[in-house]
Formats: sequence, structure tokens, C-alpha cells
Amino acid sequence: MKIHEYQAKAVLAKYGVPVRPGKVVFDVQEAVKAAQTLPQGLYVVKAQIHAGGRGKGGGVKLARSIQEVHDHAARILGMQLITHQTGPEGQKVRRLYIESGVDIAQEFYLGLTLDRERSQVAVMASKEGGVDIEEVAEHRPEAIFKEWADPAVGLTAFQCRRLGFKLGFSGKAHGQFVNLLMSLYRAFVEKDCSLVEVNPMVLTPTGEVLALDAKITFDDNAIFRHADIAELRDLDEEEPLEVRAKNYDLSYIKLSGNVGCLVNGAGLAMATMDILKYYGVEPANFLDVGGGATTEKVTEAFKILLDDKVDAIFVNIFGGIMKCDVIANGVVAAARSVGLSVPLVVRLEGTNVELGKKILAESGLAITPADSMKDGAQKCAAAIGRS
Ligand code: GDP
Ligand code: MN
Repeated sequence: MKIHEYQAKAVLAKYGVPVRPGKVVFDVQEAVKAAQTLPQGLYVVKAQIHAGGRGKGGGVKLARSIQEVHDHAARILGMQLITHQTGPEGQKVRRLYIESGVDIAQEFYLGLTLDRERSQVAVMASKEGGVDIEEVAEHRPEAIFKEWADPAVGLTAFQCRRLGFKLGFSGKAHGQFVNLLMSLYRAFVEKDCSLVEVNPMVLTPTGEVLALDAKITFDDNAIFRHADIAELRDLDEEEPLEVRAKNYDLSYIKLSGNVGCLVNGAGLAMATMDILKYYGVEPANFLDVGGGATTEKVTEAFKILLDDKVDAIFVNIFGGIMKCDVIANGVVAAARSVGLSVPLVVRLEGTNVELGKKILAESGLAITPADSMKDGAQKCAAAIGRS
């Protein structure tokens, strides 16, 4: 789960990470009021969306007066902000963060993530801050310094100091950097994060080190342990169909193609994507109803597919724990209640397969039965005019 920058800063501030004062606002009037409560001089108007690269896209603006805060807020609020992380359609800006600005002497990159190969939290730091770290990683990997935290010991002070020296810190600022990084690490572990990124972390001309941007991704499987974090969820930032699917405990990921897939089991889902692609069909989604789905769950899954405006649907089920008749009943119920408007290809195999096939055949619905995955994929291709 992702959260907004202002929320991430609030979380990190509780762990002692220095940030500038600021306020989240939802309209221009509020933006002006918020700026009036901040130290005078320099303000930053920042679009709050769950994507990075906002600065380049025109979603982060410096303001030297309240009037400028007003003008930037009016321009950014409601805009469709396009960044390299939003996709070409962009993301609508519904919230702004009005922050007290600082002068910057130097910008750094600082990120913590899980290194799955080492089973350790990796810390990455670079003097090439404020820019795309992916680009630095690709062209100048030596510019990124790394430390790994032993899970039994945690990130040690000497590792933080070593990174600080590599970044060129000294004196008071070096100590501040060490504290900031130790705080980030504690937040990462205690809040079950999968990513904590501060880009840029800055050094000011007066020698202060602080987080100017903050991005946190939490491990979804641990959210149940953090009611305070779960509350921060902003459904406006999530794919609506994925939100609906989550409410029914379905694994649904929207893809860019036009044939919807209803499958049970992640392995079968991937095999289904593969065979569809092999026959020139682009899957519209990855939808796994899981092992023990009920008729109700299958019905909802089917409705989600139809709301995704697909050109055809491929149901590919192996009935192990899941019984084919349950799937068949779900498909028939859903197709009836929403009105099946696209070709439907169904391949069933496994427990109660004969009963499942009978239910489909007797439903009176225009269902194309398939005998195998290959047969099903070919029938999907034919259904959308590809063969
Ligand atoms: P991102 O583009 O989504 O990563 O948003 P950031 O929060 O990183 O802001 C983009 C850029 O705006 C930063 O890299 C800074 O260069 C600049 N910026 C943000 N806050 C301040 C500030 O207080 N003072 C100055 N001078 N620049 C800032
Ligand atoms: Mn940034």
C-alpha cells in the first residue's frame, strides 16, 4: 500500500526524521490559509498523488509570496498530472501539500528497500539526489553507495557513519545524517515497509540535513498490524476495479489488453496469459479467484471483468479444491444478472467437471465450451477476430 508524501512525512517525523512544517489542503482558499501559518519567505506547493516525478511534470512549485501560493495552487489543483510513473493518462490532483521551503546547498538520494536475494534491508545512498535514481543506477552504478542491515543486529551506527562519509558529510551535518538514517531504518522495520525513499534528502546552506520528499510503500500482508497506517489509504489513487476486487479478496491486476481472464491459482493465471499471448490475444487482466471461491465471489469476479469493458472473457478453471459446478453456477448467475454482452469461452477441468459443463450447457447462455487451454485460447482469438 502506498501513501501520500505528506502522510509519509508525518510517519517519519514521529521517528525523528527532520521535515519542514506543512499542511495538506483540498482547495485554494485552504492553501492560502495554510501558507499564512508557515514561516514567511519561501513556500512549496506540492501535488499529492501516489507517483513520483511530480516536479518534472509541473506538480511541485516554489512560491515567494502568498499570492504565488494562491496562483500555483489554483493551477495545480484538479490538473491531470502526468509523470513517468502515472502512465500517459496521468493522475488527477485532489490534494496539495503546502510546505515551508528551504534553500538547498546539496541534494542526495536515500532509499531503503528489501533486498530479496540477501534477505536483508538494503540502504542506498547517492550524491545524485533529486533526479531519477533508476537512471543513475543504470548509467553510473558506482555513484550509489550501499549498506545491508543484518536482521538480527539491525542497521548499525557505524554503517550509517560510513555512508555519511561517502556522501561527503562532516561535523554536525554528519551526525544529523546518521540520526536521520537510523530513524528511517526504525520506521522501515517497525511499520513493515517494503520501500522508504527520501529523494531528495537535502543539506541546507546553514548545515541542516532534512527530508524534502518522502515516499513509503507498506507490505500489504502486514497492514493488519497497523491500523494507523491502514487509515491513510486513499482509494482515489487506486484502480477502482482493483479496490472492488480486494474487497472480495480476489487477486485482480488490470492489464492493457482486451480479453478478460477468470482463473483459479496464480500459476494457472500466468500459464493462461502465456497461451493467450501465444495465439495473439492480449489479456485485459490477471484475475485469480483463489482456491476456495464461493458462487458469490465468482459472481463478483465476473462482474468486475464485464465492467472492465473487455471484448471477450476466458474462464479457465482447474477444479481441485474449487469445484467446477461452483464456478459454473457463479458464471451463469453473473452472466444473467449483468447481461452477458461479449463472447464467453469456458474451459473447465477437474472435480465435478461433468456437472459444471451441464450447468453451463443448460443455462441457455451463449457460452463457447473449450476442451483444453489451447482450444480455449484459440477460441478466444477467433472470438475477437484474430486467428
Ligand atoms: P518529485 O518530483 O515527485 O520527486 O517531488 P519532490 O518532492 O522531490 O520535489 C521535486 C523537486 O522540487 C526537488 O527535487 C527539489 O529540487 C525541489 N524542491 C522541493 N522542495 C523544495 C524546497 O523547499 N526548496 C527548493 N529550493 N527546492 C525544493
Ligand atoms: Mn522526489
